Amino acid sequence: RPRVLSGIQPTSDSFHLGNYLGAVRQWVPLQETHDAFYMVVDLHAITVAPTAAELRTRTRVAAAQLFACGLDPERSAVFVQSHVREHAELAWMLICLTGMGEAGRMTQFKDKSAKYGEGSASVGLFTYPILQAADILLYQTDQVPVGADQKQHIELTRDLAQRFNTRYGATFTLPNPYIVKEVEKITDLQDPTAKMSKSSSSPQGILDVLEEPGALRKKIMRAVTDTGTDIVADDENKPGVTNLLRILSALTATPIPDLEARYVGQGYGTFKKDVAEAVIETFSPIRERAEKLLANEAELDRMLAIGAAKARAVAQQTMEKARDAMGFLPTH
Ligand code: ATP
Ligand code: MG
Repeated sequence: RPRVLSGIQPTSDSFHLGNYLGAVRQWVPLQETHDAFYMVVDLHAITVAPTAAELRTRTRVAAAQLFACGLDPERSAVFVQSHVREHAELAWMLICLTGMGEAGRMTQFKDKSAKYGEGSASVGLFTYPILQAADILLYQTDQVPVGADQKQHIELTRDLAQRFNTRYGATFTLPNPYIVKEVEKITDLQDPTAKMSKSSSSPQGILDVLEEPGALRKKIMRAVTDTGTDIVADDENKPGVTNLLRILSALTATPIPDLEARYVGQGYGTFKKDVAEAVIETFSPIRERAEKLLANEAELDRMLAIGAAKARAVAQQTMEKARDAMGFLPTH
């Protein structure tokens, strides 16, 4: 079976709608057709310096949400990145293959470092796309289901794999992005041209999976809409309405033209109410399942240990090949 891998950062207390629609929702059916690896990427989260307590809590919350969304510890490997030491080791090898200029072209670094003072973002934030390349290559991944913001990082991953293979001999599989166009970029409710994001959206702009229905409803009713009253998809002139149409379309499996027809002559109010109900209906069962999982930490940790064991077996194999190819002496 082809292999699929993806990850989510424990950088906040909940996933948001963009993470769900753009990524995690795709991961669930892929378990049936692919050899699947899904991780909570805690090593990535430390690039933005959480406290130890924050990292610990958020890692468990993220894992609980993955299981609550339907990932199955038996059918896929669901694990915590730091439990597989090889990620950091391969990242170092790839860092040494990456040009400074090449790393400097990553637009996510430019976006994410903007909020720090000149020169104050961590070196880890600068190199995290290379750690991500290691994450993907360790598992000889064929496809990476992600949102549009990750395209550039997967390009970098392919470049690094190719470079390694050319210099040291065929070692890594070249991965392809797996992106669902309709939901590749869910935008911020208050700034509908910017991506909804755990670390940069304002509380009013983001819809968290674990949020109370009342709060979700309020935010959707107050979402920025555009001038005019028509409910039509138009990225140029109506990015706010278009984002809500995409959300409703994805959550109710209704094509956008059908929604446009349904809301002819109706105001934004009715439309937004329907969006809110669809979001709440999707999130509520996930929230309930996540809360149950979080109430039993020992069981949650046990589920993650199963995933880590499966992941380690593959990662160790790849690393043996990579070490030998690069010229490192065997340890025994
Ligand atoms: P951070 O701001 O900390 O980077 P994030 O919101 O970007 O958080 P990630 O954990 O970095 O979330 O990404 C997890 C997955 O969700 C990735 O596959 C990413 O492409 C996808 N994703 C993130 N935001 C969106 C979005 N707004 N629309 C669609 N997919 C998204
Ligand atoms: Mg991100």
